[in-house]
Formats: sequence, C-alpha cells, structure tokens
Amino acid sequence: MRVKRTCFIKTTEIPTFTTLKIRINMKTLFTGSLSKMQFTNAGSELEIKPEYFIQSDSGKLHMNNLIGKEITIRYDGKINCMSCGKLTKKSYGQGYCYPCFISIPQTEECVIRPELCRAHEGIARDMEYAKKHCLTDQYIYLALSGGLKVGVTRYHQIPTRWVDQGANFAIKLAIAKNRHTAGVIEVSLKQIFADKTNWRKMLTGNDNEIPLMEQKAKAIEHIKDRDIEFTEAENVIYTISYPVEQFPTKVTSVNFDKKPEYNGVLTGIKGQYLMFDGNTVLNIRRHGGYNIEMLVGE
Ligand SMILES: [Zn+2]
Repeated sequence: MRVKRTCFIKTTEIPTFTTLKIRINMKTLFTGSLSKMQFTNAGSELEIKPEYFIQSDSGKLHMNNLIGKEITIRYDGKINCMSCGKLTKKSYGQGYCYPCFISIPQTEECVIRPELCRAHEGIARDMEYAKKHCLTDQYIYLALSGGLKVGVTRYHQIPTRWVDQGANFAIKLAIAKNRHTAGVIEVSLKQIFADKTNWRKMLTGNDNEIPLMEQKAKAIEHIKDRDIEFTEAENVIYTISYPVEQFPTKVTSVNFDKKPEYNGVLTGIKGQYLMFDGNTVLNIRRHGGYNIEMLVGE
C-alpha cells in the first residue's frame, strides 16, 4: 500500500548545500502488529554489530538504513495479543491479553525472577516449554549497559539478551544447570552488583570499557563458597556496537497510549529503542502487539 502524505523536513541533499524546507511524500514501510526488534549480526561472534529488523506479515523491515531519515509512526488504537492474536484493550507483560498474561509460559514469574523457577521440581505452567527454557544451561553474566549489572539468560539467548538491553560489553560469569540455580546465584550477586539496566544512561551514550575480568573474579569469589552448583564460564569479553549517529542528551519516551502519532528523524537504535532527534526515544518492545503504520520520507 502506498499512501501519499505531505510533511516538512530539512534536507541538505540539494546542490547548493543550503538547508531548505521542502515538501516531500511519505511512503508506508510497515503496517501491522509490532513485535520486538530482531537482528542479524554483521560483526563477529565477539564483536557484535546488530542489524535490526522488525518482522511483519509482509516481510522484514530493515531498520539500520532508516537512520538519518524522517519517520512517522501512527498507532491505530488496536492491540493484538502477541500470543492468541485477539484484540485487547490493554497490554499486559509487553504485548499480551490478560488471559494469556496469566497463563502462558512466556510471562511466568521466573522470567523476571529466575530464583522463583520451580521447573526443576516438575512445576511450571508448561513443562514442555520449561524443559527447553528453564531446564537447560543458563548463563549468569555481567554486562555494561548504562553501568555494570548482573543478569541471567539461557544459553541460546546469547548475545540476543545483551543486545536487547543495549549492553556495550559483556562477560559470562558462570553456567548453571537450571534457571532456579542461576537465579539463586544472581540473587547472591545482587549484594555486590546492580541487576537493573539504567535505561536513561544506556540511551544517552555508550559505556566505557572497564576491567570486566577483575569484576568477574570478584563475582566468582563472592559465590564460590556458597554451596551453589555452577561451572565457571570462559574468560571472553563480548563487544557490541550499535548503529547510532547521535545520542539524545536527555530522554523523553514516546507513549502511544498518550499520543498515537510520532514524527521525527531517526538518529540511532540501541537495545529495543529507536532514538529520534529532539531527545525522544521509542521503546519498541513496550509497544508489542500495537497496530501501527510506519512511514518514511521519500
Ligand atoms: Zn491472548
């Protein structure tokens, strides 16, 4: 579908290199229900360079090459549950209807608090799901994403988990046999490390590298005599570089519940956030299931 819209943008793409406001048309790039951004890695295993895309029914919308362009995102007021697809007035757990939120394994309490996982005792909303997600190797890691933090993720979520958090550097600390044990280790490490991403800080710049090996040694020292079963992970530091032309100096979040349309020039992508000129950011994951139309200036 091609919709003609007009708006004003600044452009320098004319021979005299003066800045003029001209009328341009906008082209629809995407219509449908939002889901979190995925990526392919254009770097290497240890030096990760995410190339982001949003999956829609009509294919992949590549996001990196929209940086520097003017984008309009329009929410039509409808939210489809990301699990059952039904319309829901409100989004629970970043994209689900309430019945799904309280019953599907993706929103079970141990997703946020691994120490509460009971899959190892045979208790879970969905044991088949738990076998794949909770009763498999879990990594406890340190990441620099707006400061140093500790976290837990299952092995096949590396490096996705770090990219989703906007981490610039990460190191695996330890491997635990199940989610519960990993959670117990994380709880212990919360005594000496933060466990939340400071997202404002993460969005206003990149983290400088700190000696992560030293921090890892400190972490291992802290957990080794606690009668918790784990294996120490390899000493490898991962670096993640995001496609950002310009960081905001402070951040204001777009919230489609309050204002259903946003227009601005995309200046970068980090974590699950789009950054726009004018110190505005949009958390794509927070708007999971929201039906939107995205347009770009031609
Ligand atoms: Zn549902």
